[in-house]
Amino acid sequence: MPAHPWLADRTDRFDSSGIRKVFDLAAKMKDPINLSIGQPDFPAPDSLKEAACKAIREDKNGYSQTQGAAALRDRLQQRVDEEWGHADRKLLVTSGTSGALNLAMWALVNPGDEVIVFDPYFVMYPTLCEMVGGVPVVIDTYEDDFQINLAKVEAAITPKTKLILFNSPANPTGVVASDAAARGLAELAAKHNIALLSDEIYREFCYDGALPSPAKWNDQAIVVDGFSKSYGVTGWRIGWVHGPAPLIDKMAALQQYTFVCAPNPLQHAAIEAFTTDMTPQVDAYRERRDHIVTGLRDAGYEVAPTGGAFYVFPKVPEGRGTANEFVTRAIENELLVIPGGIFSRRDTHFRISYAASKATIDRGLEVLRRLVKG
Ligand code: PMP
Repeated sequence: MPAHPWLADRTDRFDSSGIRKVFDLAAKMKDPINLSIGQPDFPAPDSLKEAACKAIREDKNGYSQTQGAAALRDRLQQRVDEEWGHADRKLLVTSGTSGALNLAMWALVNPGDEVIVFDPYFVMYPTLCEMVGGVPVVIDTYEDDFQINLAKVEAAITPKTKLILFNSPANPTGVVASDAAARGLAELAAKHNIALLSDEIYREFCYDGALPSPAKWNDQAIVVDGFSKSYGVTGWRIGWVHGPAPLIDKMAALQQYTFVCAPNPLQHAAIEAFTTDMTPQVDAYRERRDHIVTGLRDAGYEVAPTGGAFYVFPKVPEGRGTANEFVTRAIENELLVIPGGIFSRRDTHFRISYAASKATIDRGLEVLRRLVKG
């Protein structure tokens, strides 16, 4: 039964997920050990804040062109051209990376089309797919340390396969796809004439070398990205998508009828990102990654090798129940983490975000050491 008789059937596709339940619990706790947050704990750099105030004062408060404010779009397009050099690659500024994902799904997926998604997945993927009438085809990656197994992808492809949704560094595992996987996926998509969408929102958070983007080996790949995570501006809602020009033009038309444009003053402010160095923040996250992975392994947790984003996805220890049960016990001990079932058909792992202070991470590790013993 719908919550209200007026609600359309498609609203059945999403319940305001478990993540929100954890956040609601957090709001009621006095001093929780919060390792559940999917955004950086560093503030936006002063250069961006100043530029935002300036843009507002200078009355850049109206709409921008739907494709994005020219000053920002041109800079981004230049960067994309320099990196890939694809003749037909065009860029659109969107209302966050989420906006780009939405536009791509509407533009690409017909009802009944199959969309390949890797499990564990970013929460939005299966829901977005179902909202446009697509059928998610889920490929389990647990047995492969959350890397892409190309044989499994090849086996999942049918005449109805339209799109592959790929995310590296990945939410919730923090895993960076290997060069071979990114290349193999790119080539597989080209061979079968399937659209490949690469979600690179965490590309700046790669700790062991540069990100292998499948667009390097597939000039038709669609890439979504954004400033949210890399500059600590998740609330600004500035993202972008680039890919073959006819697809991007259609997404721009769709944007005109939906989001209209990304927030204009903040698009102007985001230009500062090109001259703002975030290396110290990324270096700090690399140290935290090392610290938490070592701490978890020393405590007896199984953790796959993780090279990016700010997440780790350990396995619930043997005999400690489902991830949901384990996380309930963690929350009773004031520790907020997210059960894997939110991102997966399995409920055996849990997501820790290390976008938190070292002191908070140490408090979390202390609770996790206790929980491993029962
Ligand atoms: N893709 C992934 C993999 C994410 O983790 C997120 C944010 N949690 C997004 C996209 C959306 O980011 P944005 O704030 O730019 O909409």
